[in-house]
Amino acid sequence: MDKQVVVRFAPSPTGYLHIGGARTAIFNWLYARKTGGKFILRIEDTDAERSTEESIKGIMEGLEWLGITWDEGPYFQSQFIDEHRETALKLLRSGHAYKCFCTREELEKKRKEALAKKSSLQYDGTCRNLSPEEIAGKEAAGLPYTIRLKVPRVPGAVRFKDLVYGAIEKKYEDIEDFVIVRSNGQPLYVLSNAVDDARDGITHVIRGQDGIANTPKQILIYQALGAPVPEFAHMPLTLDPKKAKISKRRHGEVVAIHFYREHGFLPWAFVNFLALLGWSTPDSKQIFSKEELIEAFSLEGVKRSNAVFDIRKDDPKFFTDPKALSINAHYIRTLPLEELEPYVREQLQKEGIWDPEFETSRRGWFLRTVDLIRQRFHVLTDFVTVGRAYFSDDYPVDERALKKNVLKHPGLREWFPLLAKRVRALENYTLEGTEEMLRATAEELAVKAGVLINGMRTAVTGQAVGPGIFDVLLAIGQERVANRLEKAVKYFE
Ligand code: GLU
Repeated sequence: MDKQVVVRFAPSPTGYLHIGGARTAIFNWLYARKTGGKFILRIEDTDAERSTEESIKGIMEGLEWLGITWDEGPYFQSQFIDEHRETALKLLRSGHAYKCFCTREELEKKRKEALAKKSSLQYDGTCRNLSPEEIAGKEAAGLPYTIRLKVPRVPGAVRFKDLVYGAIEKKYEDIEDFVIVRSNGQPLYVLSNAVDDARDGITHVIRGQDGIANTPKQILIYQALGAPVPEFAHMPLTLDPKKAKISKRRHGEVVAIHFYREHGFLPWAFVNFLALLGWSTPDSKQIFSKEELIEAFSLEGVKRSNAVFDIRKDDPKFFTDPKALSINAHYIRTLPLEELEPYVREQLQKEGIWDPEFETSRRGWFLRTVDLIRQRFHVLTDFVTVGRAYFSDDYPVDERALKKNVLKHPGLREWFPLLAKRVRALENYTLEGTEEMLRATAEELAVKAGVLINGMRTAVTGQAVGPGIFDVLLAIGQERVANRLEKAVKYFE
């Protein structure tokens, strides 16, 4: 039997969970779920100056919101610093590493000379070949030292087959004897990360493409330790439409996961969207249930080309990637109503317009109304912005709709009160009844039915577009429609 797959998401907690990080987490999680493997959350918090509690909390909340559940952890890299140091000492003892007593000044001087001569900037290995007596002497003198890994000095290369990028190699001669522990005893990240992966039994390192640069060094560390070398799968970068790397500094909150929670995304819709950033099936399928996504996912399906996160935050029509919006809209439109219900309730509650009757005596009405209006919505917040009029008498009125559908037709000043009266008097307040009344009134007034319809829609919902007017009138209800039509004369004042 093959060994169980063990993967990890290893964020550095120096900011919020962002698009790129979440996507890496999702790919790890999918791979674990697909293979019946284990998914570990490991927080790489050894950069004490930049790591914050708040960021750790934010990352975990973000993953929880997305429904990305881990099987073990969170582990914290900082708890294992002693082990990282011990490992370096072990490498010293086994002859895979050596103490380097070169001072910063000496190294700087050599670097400058090499720059002037245009020769290699690599460490020249001065301390690699110190005799045991020389080492003992320097130690006795209390000289500080770093620990460097001995890179093989024979012809050859570190080679690995990245599961996404294919064969990669780096010649030994192009890798200097790199430092694994600083002179103050602090292990370097490249060591800590490899030691943690080895200890946790990670079989597949699935991480961002920027990890490729560290991989040859990490493979040398595994080899020096005699530990099995994991498989590597690096994920393409996520770029903005101008091909700049996605970052908080450049793009602000729109790249943060919490932004999508606040802006009315359904967590699964967002996972679905993120999974498509750099991965696809041969038939370019767009919508996946959780089971389908787990089933379809493969590391082979990850593309090498950079993924584009098509943020259009400066376009008034889109405040983010249009594909993210359209996938979210799909789920809002098609989710079983009972599954959508709690999300809509949360929106209404946040706005203080939730009525407990919506889940008791008026639940039937509530679900029908949600079903009616969701067809055009892109985000959950639409239920309390453009859809607010269905749940509250205090709703916004779109200025452009008002100009186009109401103010342009001064006749409505008289027609609204008349329609209000007729609505109130209507015995047969049904789809047919309201339509009949409206068409008869239009004829009588010798005005196009469309003028009355558009005017009424704007008066009773505040919007220019929406479901069919007679469905709208029914959903809003006879009494409220009549009241709103009566009050609509105020627009002419
Ligand atoms: N802490 C690293 C990062 O956030 C992860 C590197 C890795 O996964 O090996 O980029």
